[in-house]
Amino acid sequence: MTPRELVPRESEIAVIGLAKSGRAVAMLLRKHGYNVYASDVASSPDTGRCAEELRAQGIAVDVGRHDLAFARENGITIASEVEVALNFLEEPRIVAITGTNGKTTTTALIAHLLRGLDLEAVEAGNIGTPLSEIAGREQAPKWISLEMSSFQLHDTPSLKPLVGVLTNLSPDHLDRYSSVEEYYADKRRLFANADGDSVWVVNHDDRAVMRMARDVAGHKYSFSVSEDAEACLDARTNELVVLGAPLLQRRDLPLLGQHNVGNALAASVAVMAADRSHQTQKARKGIAAALRTFRSLPHRLELVGEFGGVQWINDSKATNVSSAAVAIDGMERPTVLLLGGRHKGEAYTALSDVVRRKAKRVIAYGEAAPIIATDLRPVVDVVRLGSDFDEVIQAARAAARPGDAVLLSPACSSYDMFSNYEERGERFRALAAKEA
Ligand code: ADP
Repeated sequence: MTPRELVPRESEIAVIGLAKSGRAVAMLLRKHGYNVYASDVASSPDTGRCAEELRAQGIAVDVGRHDLAFARENGITIASEVEVALNFLEEPRIVAITGTNGKTTTTALIAHLLRGLDLEAVEAGNIGTPLSEIAGREQAPKWISLEMSSFQLHDTPSLKPLVGVLTNLSPDHLDRYSSVEEYYADKRRLFANADGDSVWVVNHDDRAVMRMARDVAGHKYSFSVSEDAEACLDARTNELVVLGAPLLQRRDLPLLGQHNVGNALAASVAVMAADRSHQTQKARKGIAAALRTFRSLPHRLELVGEFGGVQWINDSKATNVSSAAVAIDGMERPTVLLLGGRHKGEAYTALSDVVRRKAKRVIAYGEAAPIIATDLRPVVDVVRLGSDFDEVIQAARAAARPGDAVLLSPACSSYDMFSNYEERGERFRALAAKEA
């Protein structure tokens, strides 16, 4: 294969960051004969191990700081790991997914549905497997369900998906963007290479999405959980209806929450729109069967168990206000709600309505606790704690009565107390089960 020439072969490519995607792209570039220099500011055991592995491949590795702003100002090309990987994939059939919430679930659903049609498909990108790792395989799979974060979109100018999905838009990452507009502008880059042949899947229920997609070239399929659309939920029959025909009963979709009906509709119509052969009766049956066997991903409204009559629900992945709002809204029991972590800049007053209706008590913890307490005290009983997670769980246990639920849907990032949301969710799981 002759990849498009990224940069002249003799120049050096600096790979910044030695986490999963940094490692994968460094290996990929080296494999194709590029001069690679990799670095990371942190010197953790993980980056140390990665450094050793890369050095063994002839890659220069250093622990040091690279100034991206300086590089941008000085005209040095900055490309995301995904951008590099795209150069090495031959005619990939990419379904790209972005949006504020539901990306990972929709990405996993799309890959699962494609496999349900007996196609070779993988999920990649922000979901976990770097695209560079896929591009480095001897035989790359034909179909790629690619989750794109706003940060990845920022530096991936070549992305031109076969189908692009925009799940929803709401304020997020205000600790890293100077405004919501700036964040949305990166999301808009999904459409950067739109032309008459493009195919898009957009959320009819989300005004910001519809506004953003309005003048984009190509064919648009919309999905809705409340109104008529190419993919919608029929309120009368409780069926998921896609491209004019019923696909599945709501009760046969094994996922909690109305938002997941939206994710399933988006995924189904994206898969059908990707190729005409995915719209036959046989294909529709395959897609419906795959929807029935999809299981929710860890840390996303995951029922840990029922202990002493109390349901413990781990939604640690709800790291912004809008995703927590969806989870709280879906609660069917009086709820002890755990909110907290590192504040990302959004006001918690946006939760006032759902909290008033569903939460019997809020336990506010971590760095954001004072802001959460101030924002929500007018509508609910708030207990304000520090950064000891054991203490948070004890307070939850003390507040919950049989018939209640304890929901960790923190609306904040985990970085003040944990290395990531997975660790936070795992601690929650372990502590919930411990003294039960
Ligand atoms: P992302 O990859 O965009 O963060 P996930 O699928 O991992 O999305 O879900 C993250 C959180 O957002 C979960 O905790 C879930 O409860 C919530 N969520 C999932 N889908 C949606 C949706 N369509 N709209 C709003 N919130 C959602």
